[in-house]
Amino acid sequence: MTRPIRYIDGPPKSAETIVIGGGVVGAATAFHAARAGFEVTLLEKRPALCTLTTPASTGAFRLQFDNLEELTLVRESVELFLNFEEATEQTDYSLDIKQQGYLWITTDEERASRARELVDLQHSWGQTDIELIEPDEIRERWPYVTEEAVLARFRAGDGFLDPKSLTMGLAASSRANVVTSCGVTGFIVEGDRLRGVRTTTGDISCERAVIAAGPFSGVVAKMAGIDLPVVTVPRQKLVMPEVPMVPVDAPMTIDDDTGAHWRPALSGAYLLFTDPRTEPTEPAEDVPSDHRAIFQLLDPDSPFSVARIAPFWRDIWSRNSVNWMLQTGQYTITPDHRPLLGPTPIEGLFVNSGYSGHGIMGSAAGSRHLVDVMSGAMTGTDNPFALDRIFAVRSLDVL
Ligand SMILES: Cc1cc2nc3c(=O)[nH]c(=O)nc-3n(C[C@H](O)[C@H](O)[C@H](O)COP(=O)(O)OP(=O)(O)OC[C@H]3O[C@@H](n4cnc5c(N)ncnc54)[C@H](O)[C@@H]3O)c2cc1C
Repeated sequence: MTRPIRYIDGPPKSAETIVIGGGVVGAATAFHAARAGFEVTLLEKRPALCTLTTPASTGAFRLQFDNLEELTLVRESVELFLNFEEATEQTDYSLDIKQQGYLWITTDEERASRARELVDLQHSWGQTDIELIEPDEIRERWPYVTEEAVLARFRAGDGFLDPKSLTMGLAASSRANVVTSCGVTGFIVEGDRLRGVRTTTGDISCERAVIAAGPFSGVVAKMAGIDLPVVTVPRQKLVMPEVPMVPVDAPMTIDDDTGAHWRPALSGAYLLFTDPRTEPTEPAEDVPSDHRAIFQLLDPDSPFSVARIAPFWRDIWSRNSVNWMLQTGQYTITPDHRPLLGPTPIEGLFVNSGYSGHGIMGSAAGSRHLVDVMSGAMTGTDNPFALDRIFAVRSLDVL
């Protein structure tokens, strides 16, 4: 079924529910809000939807987590991804899902024992399809992996999807009024109650609004005098469009010891590594690339080289005959690396952000969660992602 996106020229004078931001999180918010009976107007400051962080992502999803709350959230998202056309009642956008698995490999005995503990925990949460694999079997199943591997963990159902189609399909299905080139510049508040939003093309009165502005969520919240506990950290994806040596059916292959990882994409691969020492930077539309990431990932002499785990990358480096480019975005990170989903102190103003690198896989269920809070179906005490929760500080999740 065709469901074209409902673009309107310029903002209306009034709207019931406004969603600020047209990335995957804004689109998923519009989708679930519409399902719950809200009438949505989605505002995007750039000339097109899905042009900032979402298209820079790797589009990967997994059910291998170190905490039950996020696992539960992403399980629900994956359910929707796997039934996307049916759930969104449209056939214009399909997700091109490839369930090729997530393979974490360590060459370190101590880390291997931590991996065993983690998988025990994951099994205790009902995720019993996560396998622990010993060296002989690793090489049998993935002959490209180093002989130095001492243990792998793997879940075959994890995989990748097309984040752009996900966003556009959700936006189309929502039947929201979509206004592009319309940036929110402020809020109209009476007492503690939201009355409207100010935009670059005029004011809109509204009953409620959701901040889903990705890396700019903190900036937008500040317009209402609210400090969000988020920082933005640059994150780069090395795109190698044509690399015949990359096995097309390889899983997301992760060096558990360093966090460097790659997956097949296009006719080549996407490769990622973010140095844990990378400092936060101001939210930006043009995030500068740092060429050092290329050499950290590809040069076999780098301690983070992908050749450590998959030695065929060494040959690709020494031949030096394939093209590459860097695509850069920002992670919007909270102190506990879990999203912020819930109301603000201003009645009628909500936040859906802070996914800390898991915003593609978290978007669908996180937005359903936010809409449940918005409709009153979920109360503050049931919400582990509330803005005023106590944050347990976790070390930087490398993926
Ligand atoms: C390199 C990289 C790889 C990643 N890989 C993965 C992955 O494999 N899996 C995964 O789950 N996640 C991944 N992520 C994280 C994921 O991409 C993000 O969590 C997700 O895209 C965030 O979506 P968003 O809609 O919140 O933000 P965005 O896509 O940035 O959308 C926010 C939108 O809000 C708009 N906006 C901002 N300010 C205003 C305003 N004042 N008025 C109106 N509109 C405004 C912006 O223009 C933008 O379009 C990755 C991220 C990066 C950078």
